[in-house]
Amino acid sequence: AVPLTMSASIHRLLEAGILVRNSEVLEKAVRVDTLVFDKTGTLTEGKLVVERVYTLTDISADEIIRLAAIAEKSVNHPIAKAIVEYARARGLDVSTNPSRVDYIKGMGVVADINGLVVAIGSEKLVEQMIGPESLRGVADIVGGYAGTRVYVVVGDKLAGVILLKDEVRRDAIEAISVLKARGYRIAILSGDSREAVEEIARVLGVTEYYYRVEPIDKAKIIRKMQSSGRVVAMVGDGINDAIALSQADVGIAVHRGTEIAKEAGDAILLRDDLTLIPRFLEAAKKVNRAAK
Ligand code: ADP
Ligand code: MG
Repeated sequence: AVPLTMSASIHRLLEAGILVRNSEVLEKAVRVDTLVFDKTGTLTEGKLVVERVYTLTDISADEIIRLAAIAEKSVNHPIAKAIVEYARARGLDVSTNPSRVDYIKGMGVVADINGLVVAIGSEKLVEQMIGPESLRGVADIVGGYAGTRVYVVVGDKLAGVILLKDEVRRDAIEAISVLKARGYRIAILSGDSREAVEEIARVLGVTEYYYRVEPIDKAKIIRKMQSSGRVVAMVGDGINDAIALSQADVGIAVHRGTEIAKEAGDAILLRDDLTLIPRFLEAAKKVNRAAK
């Protein structure tokens, strides 16, 4: 009778908007005590908007945006979309095609535009391309900004910084407050800067958070939690989350997630609503009780 109970429950979850890969997932879900959330596109809308562009050399703000948009136009990431959109809104010509584009997961993009190397991404990307000295003094300019920032390297110089903002999802606020009230431990894992992650942690009342985390390190942090006895569900949307989703005891891919995240997930949200997560954990408990 147990397998029957399970499959009926999986079916009921499906109707509620959660696709569960198999019945073992429900058993594991009952033991979960920690939920780890990716930030961009999971806790936030993932619809970034360019707020400001700083120039650090004699290259103009429009030229920085134009080059960045050319490099990003083939990339499927909320930062890329925001930059391309902003360039178009400013009437900049982004028709040039780069001869080469390398996307470095969780770090950014490096492109060759008519022999000019243009890189857009995190501090880590800048450090790796032109060394940490290049960032000296930049914190004074953008350090207080609470949103996402990406750096633009043109040739061998840091040419500018683009500041982007994103909105916290309402259903994220609701889901996290319910989960906290039920005694779950919540953590945020993000590749974004300290300032951007601290801001969302503050808004959501989350005290455990990790910033500037590379995709492979997302999985390492989860493994560390597991080795201290925690049972972890990871919630994510991106290719940068796939390894962590697999490492977690229960990987949950959000509705708007990429195919890769969905493949790596044990459970997939079928609606764009994070409050499905507390419902899923509750349902798992009921099934387990019924099966006993
Ligand atoms: P998160 O972990 O919050 O979902 P990502 O891993 O997607 O964020 O990105 C982490 C960081 O890497 C970003 O904050 C940004 O600095 C950089 N980055 C990632 N993708 C891009 C891109 N397409 N263009 C520029 N920077 C990027
Ligand atoms: Mg993400």
